[in-house]
Amino acid sequence: MRKPATDEVIDLCRDLIRIDTTNTGDLATSAGERGAAEYVATKLSEVGLDPQLFESRPGRASVVTRIPGADSSRGALLVHGHLDVVPADASEWSVHPFSGEIKDDFIWGRGAVDMKDFDAMALAVVREWQQTGYVPPRDIVLAYTADEEAGSDYGAAFLVDEHPELFEGCTEAIGEVGGFSYTVSNDLRLYMIQTAEKGIDWLRVHATGRPGHGSFVHDDNAVTALCEAVARVGRHRFPVVVTPTVRAFLEEVGEALHIEIDPDDPEAAIAKLGPIATMIGATIRNTANPTRLNAGYKDNVIPGRASATIDCRTLPGQFELFREQLVEVLGPDLEIESIHRQPALETGFDGALVDAMALALKAEDPGAHAVPYMLSGGTDAKSFARLGIRCFGFAPLRLPPDLNFSALFHGIDERVPVEGLQFGVRVLDRFLRQS
Ligand SMILES: [Zn+2]
Repeated sequence: MRKPATDEVIDLCRDLIRIDTTNTGDLATSAGERGAAEYVATKLSEVGLDPQLFESRPGRASVVTRIPGADSSRGALLVHGHLDVVPADASEWSVHPFSGEIKDDFIWGRGAVDMKDFDAMALAVVREWQQTGYVPPRDIVLAYTADEEAGSDYGAAFLVDEHPELFEGCTEAIGEVGGFSYTVSNDLRLYMIQTAEKGIDWLRVHATGRPGHGSFVHDDNAVTALCEAVARVGRHRFPVVVTPTVRAFLEEVGEALHIEIDPDDPEAAIAKLGPIATMIGATIRNTANPTRLNAGYKDNVIPGRASATIDCRTLPGQFELFREQLVEVLGPDLEIESIHRQPALETGFDGALVDAMALALKAEDPGAHAVPYMLSGGTDAKSFARLGIRCFGFAPLRLPPDLNFSALFHGIDERVPVEGLQFGVRVLDRFLRQS
């Protein structure tokens, strides 16, 4: 007998977690997504869909399928989720990270919230439609991607570059990271819809000096110059810039929590938001965090060159200005090399699709109030946006009030509440039917 989507989602999520798709960012040591991609493709074929599997590199597989809608002349909706997960060290976990164990009403494992939960939700909903003969209002393109956790080169970016025809007619998209609840009170939950994400600007900075013997007095040491500059950047706070998304978010939150938030000086108010403060705090300014250092080859030799990697994240429209500010902090003598750059995204919190999200949430949770927010990280949306697709983070999930959701992302003991997952299926189903 066919299981309803709200039950099947549990099996699907656990199965996906059990398939190790660890992405280390290095082709040699990554597990690859092939196993999970084949699993998803089988589940889609079983119900009469025609999924295509694309392998960008051996083992690095993505799956795409199109579900024809009642009115194919309308723009299609892209529903996307990534199949890879970040590494997990089993010795640090309470359960094995690839066990998919159910304990305390949660499904535990790497990928439980990032993002095999949503992968499973979309799969469960679509399988139910196919089995009951339901036809969505417009075409839906369902994409399960590789390599999101390492910049999307072997997943979404590959698909967009090599197979853009797969996304033909797609006008809007939903994926991570949004749609989860933040409890204000018993009868009020804010559901954070991602309408913006920061840009990525990974830089390598190089200092040069005079090489020499480690025993001499030396006033032109590349390591010293680099460390001074890197320390300045690491401690620097770039100025607060409130974008339209963050302004809208702060207004909504201020109203919901009955607190006065000065949108031009929001730091103190953000600090009061509890677990989401870290997330939101990073969306009011550009950031630059040193992450790697590289210099020298022998204990008693002063090298002529030293370098550091700086992970910079920029707000929409801030890229050029940020670079100028960064050079001021680093000083004029360092050479800056760009190693990876993706622009920030921002769209409005309006239109029929946004209304459909808010209505679907409200129908399943009368205390739901949808609010826009900006993600400080980057997602596959960056690749899909290159095709002119308007991207949202909407993977609906109702969370217990005391759960520190953002800490679970890439965290130890990542887990998703079973009830929240089932809630997500119901909301996603309603939303897609009204989209
Ligand atoms: Zn993710």
